[in-house]
Amino acid sequence: MAEHWGDGTRAVRAGLPEPVKYEPALPGPVFAAHYHLPGDPTGPYTYGRDENPTWTHLERAVGELEAPGDAGARTVVFASGMAAVSSVLFSQLRAGDVAVLPDDGYQALPLVREQLEAYGIEVRTAPTGGDAQLAVLDGAKLLWLETPSNPGLDVCDIRRLVAAAHAGGTLVAVDNTLATPLGQRPLELGADFSVASDTKGMTGHGDILLGHVTCRDAALAAAVRRWRKITGAIPGPMEAWLAHRSLATLQLRVERQCANALVLADALAGRDDVTRLRHPGLPGDPSHKVAAGQMRRFGSVVSFVLADREQAERFLDALRLVDDATSFGGVRSTAERRGRWGGDAVPEGFIRFSVGAEDPDDLVADVLRALDAAAGR
Ligand SMILES: *Cc1c(COP(=O)(O)O)cnc(C)c1O
Repeated sequence: MAEHWGDGTRAVRAGLPEPVKYEPALPGPVFAAHYHLPGDPTGPYTYGRDENPTWTHLERAVGELEAPGDAGARTVVFASGMAAVSSVLFSQLRAGDVAVLPDDGYQALPLVREQLEAYGIEVRTAPTGGDAQLAVLDGAKLLWLETPSNPGLDVCDIRRLVAAAHAGGTLVAVDNTLATPLGQRPLELGADFSVASDTKGMTGHGDILLGHVTCRDAALAAAVRRWRKITGAIPGPMEAWLAHRSLATLQLRVERQCANALVLADALAGRDDVTRLRHPGLPGDPSHKVAAGQMRRFGSVVSFVLADREQAERFLDALRLVDDATSFGGVRSTAERRGRWGGDAVPEGFIRFSVGAEDPDDLVADVLRALDAAAGR
């Protein structure tokens, strides 16, 4: 994989093996619980929970996107984003260690926190915005960042937090789900782990769950891989293959969806019934300056607040091109009233909008019409 290639070239070729006569470009999924293994049990393929050739291709592909030009980067794929998140936290932290988490991150993090604390790990939290996690870093073993944060879309300065963390011997992991590696490359910004739910924009069709961890350090990667073996949180070969196939269109999807998100955010900015509009790509957004210094694309999520729960529900009900559904990063736009889950500290009228790959004019027209309908105009 040539280092100077653009994102589109890199995405369509990512992880492809050397051409073999009469073989497909991307070999099909390998369904195997075990492999022929006479004699001493040396790898690479021995037992299905440890290794699978379909994972190997996908892991190479993700590595080429997360750390272009770095042949030493190692990726481990998981059955879901949470399996990937847990593999880093639970493989690295021991009783008596301190972990710093964001208090405005993914909604399953509070559950993770409870479990860490049950194992005798001290957990400190602080908001993502304003690099507030710096203030609680002292003596920590691991700093967990999620930027942009989900669903609030605050951004922290990864380089700055990494510098402070590494100065104190603290490892840094970044949940890169929202940005995807085409939007942000945490390892290049100094992080030790780039972690993601590939259920979202990475695969982009809303039809599989998957996750990955990429790191440069061989010992850290080995610990994550060992955790996968112990917990058995392995992806199915079919899911891994579908994910690899989806990566070929990653640049097309991300480019279109990020452009659409900016167009939609601009259209929403002119509405008096829309408040607290957030998107890191908007020049006036509180996140924009830091985001522009570390992101190459600003993501496909836009958030805003409508008057109250009723108005938000009327809005979602009136949309035709946008499904009322959770998750984000898919080619079909979705939106939801985030407060319905009860886990995030958001107002009742808070909408998290995941912008898809529709024609921007169609999408904006649908959204403006639904806003009018919700406002009784
Ligand atoms: C969805 C999500 C996860 C969890 O991923 P799953 O694939 O649902 O397990 C973790 N972090 C972020 C930021 C997410 O959006």
